Amino acid sequence: MIVNKDVLIIGAGPAGMSAAIYLSRSKYTFSIIDKSAAGGKLLITTRIDNYPGVKRISGFDLANLLVDQLKDLNIKIEHDEIIDCEKNDKGFFVKGRNSDYQVKKIIISTGSSNKKTGLKNEENLIGKGISYCAVCDGFFYRNKEVMVFANETKGYLEALYLTDLVKTLYLVSDKDEDDSLENLKILKNKDNVIFYPYYKIADFIGDEYLTGVKIKSLKDGEIKTLEVEGCFPFEGDIPMNYFLRKLNVSTEKGYIVTDINMKTNEEGIYAAGDIVNKSLKQIVTACSDGAIAATNVIKSLNSK
Ligand SMILES: Cc1cc2nc3c(=O)[nH]c(=O)nc-3n(C[C@H](O)[C@H](O)[C@H](O)COP(=O)(O)OP(=O)(O)OC[C@H]3O[C@@H](n4cnc5c(N)ncnc54)[C@H](O)[C@@H]3O)c2cc1C
Repeated sequence: MIVNKDVLIIGAGPAGMSAAIYLSRSKYTFSIIDKSAAGGKLLITTRIDNYPGVKRISGFDLANLLVDQLKDLNIKIEHDEIIDCEKNDKGFFVKGRNSDYQVKKIIISTGSSNKKTGLKNEENLIGKGISYCAVCDGFFYRNKEVMVFANETKGYLEALYLTDLVKTLYLVSDKDEDDSLENLKILKNKDNVIFYPYYKIADFIGDEYLTGVKIKSLKDGEIKTLEVEGCFPFEGDIPMNYFLRKLNVSTEKGYIVTDINMKTNEEGIYAAGDIVNKSLKQIVTACSDGAIAATNVIKSLNSK
């Protein structure tokens, strides 16, 4: 099936849903699709207390508010994963797993996902001891021994969430004991946290389930084995741009480069949210990008 629309929004996180709200005020037709549940990373965020106008809200509740708002505007979020995208004389032919789309403009709001360690045993043990989302899976490790690898704010926040659930949390980082990071400071003062700075993950142990993690010192190569049932390796994020290989969209470390109107170098392609190369990746900036992208898509369609 080929869906013919003016605009395709790829990704229904805060950026994509904000773009949909703005596009719905125009005369142009559009589809908004997501490969999983609408809400994006909001669905794995326990608590948000920096979104203007809302004192405190869970990510899940904010996602539901956004989905409700879209429903109210008669916008249906379609379930599909975009796997390929090509230019043609009518605009873009976009290939999904469920449908294909012929559109004039695209707004990419696909965010990023967790980087894997790439170690041999990792894939086998995902969901059997290895997890990349403390909020989603932390519950399974209640009163258990758990290891977190973290080297930036996101990882430290996930570790903080886990400290209230688990018996012991081994916090491993390839970085220094950087006390300037507020969350790391709090973690180090927790009774159930044992900190290993300057270590990296060397191996995951376990056949059916994870039984331990080997960590290697970056100073002297010493290997330690932590006997844990759960491991949360937060090694960073990778931008979700795998469907763009046939286009020449400029990126910086995989993140899409845009101008202030969220336009990419490729005419007709806009980007919004965490997929964009920018200094602050938050809900408020994702929503702002989505609104700007949609407004400029409308302007561009009006001018044709
Ligand atoms: C643990 C955690 C806590 C956070 N806490 C806060 C906070 O307190 N305050 C704050 O402001 N921000 C917070 N953030 C950051 C915030 O969640 C993100 O900045 C925001 O969600 C980015 O929105 P987005 O729409 O760009 O991307 P995302 O929310 O990542 O949504 C992208 C969507 O695109 C979909 N997608 C990806 N590839 C495809 C494809 N090929 N085809 C179809 N769909 C696709 C994904 O399934 C996803 O639903 C937190 C993030 C995390 C991980």
